[in-house]
Amino acid sequence: MRRIAIIGGGFTGTAVAIRLCASAPTPLNITIIEPRQELGGGLAYGGNDPDHRVNGTHELLVLFPDDIGHFARWYETSGAAARDPEGRADSGVRYVRRSDLRGYMNDTLQQTLEENTYGSTVRHVRDRAVAARRTDRGVQIELASGRTEEPDLIVLAFGGQRPSLFRGVTAQARNHSGYIGDPFDTEAVSAISPDNSVLLVGTGLTAADVLATLSRQGHRGPIKAISRRGLLPEPQGDVPNVAALMQRLASPMPRFIERHGEGLTLGASVRALRQDMELASAEGRDLKGPFDDVRDAAGWLWKNFTDPEKRRFLRHLKPWYDVNRYRMVPQTGAKIAAAVESGQLKFSVARLDGLDASNNRLEARLLERGGKMVREPFDTVINCTGPKTLSDDTFVRTMIDLGLVRPDSMGLGFDVDGEGRVLDGDGNAQNAIWAFGLLTRGRFGDMTAIPQIAVRLHNSLPALIGTLVGTEGPPPREVV
Ligand SMILES: Cc1cc2nc3c(=O)[nH]c(=O)nc-3n(C[C@H](O)[C@H](O)[C@H](O)COP(=O)(O)OP(=O)(O)OC[C@H]3O[C@@H](n4cnc5c(N)ncnc54)[C@H](O)[C@@H]3O)c2cc1C
Repeated sequence: MRRIAIIGGGFTGTAVAIRLCASAPTPLNITIIEPRQELGGGLAYGGNDPDHRVNGTHELLVLFPDDIGHFARWYETSGAAARDPEGRADSGVRYVRRSDLRGYMNDTLQQTLEENTYGSTVRHVRDRAVAARRTDRGVQIELASGRTEEPDLIVLAFGGQRPSLFRGVTAQARNHSGYIGDPFDTEAVSAISPDNSVLLVGTGLTAADVLATLSRQGHRGPIKAISRRGLLPEPQGDVPNVAALMQRLASPMPRFIERHGEGLTLGASVRALRQDMELASAEGRDLKGPFDDVRDAAGWLWKNFTDPEKRRFLRHLKPWYDVNRYRMVPQTGAKIAAAVESGQLKFSVARLDGLDASNNRLEARLLERGGKMVREPFDTVINCTGPKTLSDDTFVRTMIDLGLVRPDSMGLGFDVDGEGRVLDGDGNAQNAIWAFGLLTRGRFGDMTAIPQIAVRLHNSLPALIGTLVGTEGPPPREVV
């Protein structure tokens, strides 16, 4: 039996296991190496906060692009929908709890194994990959427990990381009980005293999650949320037609490229988007439509940008892209609007220049717009910035040192070919190491959300299965 080790059992790693079990025409021995107790959660869906919701309608939660109603059916029949009446927004659209997505992934894995069409097995090893070593047979993965795995094929799916530490945070501040470096640490957030003054560094969806939690906890103290540009996530727009979206993601050529041609520079792409927005505005259409077309074409655009263009995008345009891309669910938006209205919550354009602890409080040095530096005391400071680059833990480092992988030119993840085969240190695609999900965003541009990850995996399945069993097996059904 061919042995596969999937490193990381969040949405991506678990999706790979499910789809392989369901489609590979011969039995596979699949191991998922994931330190968390439950599979399918990861950083995004691993928590239990009832106010942390998926930032798109439940129809976008697509594991099988050829059966887009699969999640919706589970949501009703599992009773998750009935347990969460607040999930239904005023518009009637559902924004589900992120923990429910984890439940769905576990149930689906279970069901796939029960049906066990091709006799594959899936084993969850609760451990962490810490190093890699070359052997005569291939690659050995060393786990934190000291155990090793030596599979025939490795799938890297250890996606996101927690936010990195800010520069200028002193050791005293870091060790202060009011400093929360990990916004996903629900215990720390729930322990915040209701009258504390709170500083949120970052104003994206992570800050929105923390604000939703504070609101439920009846927080009364003042809250300040800062970011360099002061941009907040846009509200959700019109309800997307999911079938059309899936088809667009899977289509050989995205609409934006069809309209404006291939090989656009960064400048030409921005001008083309402006043109599309002006046209949409003149015709009274939602401006999110033209933006979504660029999102769907991100992979095409990204691969043609030069490195200086990619750097310019990441430095100057990404904050704007992100607030349009990752939109706020109405339930959270309403809580934030109420806190702003009451004067409790203030958004401000500023950069955290330093953080120290004195007299039992944290003192933040904030560089405001116009270059003014102010010092402000807070009881609690929460790092709500997202991870930007590839982790530099020992596992990643040993893989790079051995030439088994190489970071993409922006250091966002690993270089892969168009299917997901990881390129070795010399740039050759390897059949024995694959990557999916966030780790491939340096190749595919926008590869963070479920629909993009699911469609990419769907399209790569025949090649992945072909590598494993020497025959492609039945081609995946058409994307709906
Ligand atoms: C807070 C948050 C909310 C999000 N909300 C949405 C949303 O609403 N809709 C949407 O479409 N997308 C959302 N996303 C994007 C999200 O990244 C993807 O949807 C998807 O969950 C990515 O899954 P993943 O498995 O690739 O990564 P992750 O979720 O990061 O999972 C990676 C897993 O790898 C494990 N791991 C890490 N290192 C190792 C190691 N060395 N050895 C073994 N295991 C390891 C981790 O424990 C983790 O469980 C959100 C992301 C975050 C962070």
